[in-house]
Amino acid sequence: MILEDLKINIESLEQRSIYRIEGDLVIDSIELDIGNCPLLKPLSINIEYVLQKRELFVTGRVRTTLECQCSRCLEPAVIEINGQIEAVYRPSEELKSLKREEVLEKLENVVYYFDPVIDLFERVHEAVVVEVPQKPLCKPDCKGLCPYCGENLNEHPEHRCNQLEDFLLEARMSLFKELRRGG
Ligand SMILES: [Zn+2]
Ligand SMILES: [Zn+2]
Repeated sequence: MILEDLKINIESLEQRSIYRIEGDLVIDSIELDIGNCPLLKPLSINIEYVLQKRELFVTGRVRTTLECQCSRCLEPAVIEINGQIEAVYRPSEELKSLKREEVLEKLENVVYYFDPVIDLFERVHEAVVVEVPQKPLCKPDCKGLCPYCGENLNEHPEHRCNQLEDFLLEARMSLFKELRRGG
């Protein structure tokens, strides 16, 4: 099934009924702090939610494969996403009756809603974000780029850097001059 969005209206739900959203969301990229990452596979969603009094309990899974930039060589890195969703939505009025410490304590996985229309995409996005490593790699042993000239060392493992040699030569020359000046 193709899902247009993940918005649900709490007011339209029956108490204690289990609702399910299953399908692929119609997006082809996802915005992360490392940039906008294209999806190589559909964003597959499997969410269950239950309303109990005015609290909405949400659990689910998110799967996809996305492409981002390797943090060493800047080539594409393919990341498998197998994320979990676990959240409780509570009405925002409850927030006022809590002490500050309680708010902080309960912050994890608790979301306060103002509007009865809730967009579960925010939880999906979070579940994807935590699955993406801080420094994504195109392969575990990526050799990265030559720090002197930027040559890709995966493609040119034999690379001996001319610029490094120039750099060393220059360093040697200036050392030599220093020594002469000193002596
Ligand atoms: Zn790489
Ligand atoms: Zn080089």
